[in-house]
Amino acid sequence: MTTLADHYWAGCAAGELRYRACTACGARQTFPRAFCPACGSEAVEWRRAAGTGTVHAAAIVTRAPSDAFRPLVPYAILLVDLDEGIRMMAHGAPGLTIGQRVAVTFHLHDGRHLPRFVPL
Ligand SMILES: [Zn+2]
Repeated sequence: MTTLADHYWAGCAAGELRYRACTACGARQTFPRAFCPACGSEAVEWRRAAGTGTVHAAAIVTRAPSDAFRPLVPYAILLVDLDEGIRMMAHGAPGLTIGQRVAVTFHLHDGRHLPRFVPL
């Protein structure tokens, strides 16, 4: 069974950061829902983000949430405000600071291409 999340992850594997946009009210979201959380419309479509944004918050993970992430620690978890007006959570290069401009890359980890932001 194909899910909306599969389409998101297929984009990551192809080097595209995808988001959902409502054609009824214009709301945008990174979470792949079948409807718009702002107006309830089902007229939502996939769009490709430019992949650039600004760091809103940053934290360093030193204790892995699972064995699969243990080889990555320490790594940064960021909240990034994409230029499309969406805030998303993703991995980041170490040393990124709030307000810094960043661009998305993707790194293959445990079978998925995870978004990872680096300095622009
Ligand atoms: Zn809407």
